[in-house]
Amino acid sequence: MANRPFVAEWPSEGIPASTGCGEILRRNQVMTTAAKLLWVAFALCWGVIRFRYAHRAKRNRQIEEQDRTYESVLLTLSFIGYLAVPVLYLGTSWLSFADYSLQPVLFGAGIVASAASLWLFWRSHADLGRNFSIKLVIREQHALVTTGVYRVIRHPMYASALLWSFGQALLLPNWATALAGLFGFCILYCGRVRREETLMLKTFGSSYEEYMMRTKRLVPHIY
Ligand code: SAH
Repeated sequence: MANRPFVAEWPSEGIPASTGCGEILRRNQVMTTAAKLLWVAFALCWGVIRFRYAHRAKRNRQIEEQDRTYESVLLTLSFIGYLAVPVLYLGTSWLSFADYSLQPVLFGAGIVASAASLWLFWRSHADLGRNFSIKLVIREQHALVTTGVYRVIRHPMYASALLWSFGQALLLPNWATALAGLFGFCILYCGRVRREETLMLKTFGSSYEEYMMRTKRLVPHIY
């Protein structure tokens, strides 16, 4: 009795087989697949919203477009981080060296971040209406929007892009994909926000100045 190995003392009776290591791995695989499918579904919704509102805004003719080439470079780099790298991760095994294991709490947080991002993305398009443009543009009947989500922050669409980066990092468990999303946001935000505010000040003068004084850029009352 005294010489029995420790492992033989382990009470194996009464423990369901489903708590085995294989079962945990299988559950993790199912969760990772669900997370990937959800990301694809969110991305499709994102595309539908963007297409719909970009198409509508075309009716309001452009009268000024700033730094066309620079803007194209910004958007292409951002597109690589937000779409090309995730597609590479989902469609090939090239980025598998950077995989990490998805945990239920990260999965849940990823769903919340992506859903919140999508809601804010939709609301900011709906509130901007025909004043929306993908690039830095002034339209023929451009009105300064300070209502809806724009009443709370000045750049809700960029805030939604930041939330999307968090969602991407949490739902697609791969470091390269996570960093690519954050890179996509930084390129877009840092390359755009000051130039956009300068253009808004030039176009709307004191109205935009007052608007700047009572709102923050991305996080209400904080930043
Ligand atoms: N930065 C904003 C809008 C991004 S769309 C956001 O994050 O929600 C970019 C276009 O929106 C720019 O070409 C600019 O002309 C226009 N724009 C930005 N803020 C605006 C506002 N408050 N009212 C009207 N147009 C705005």
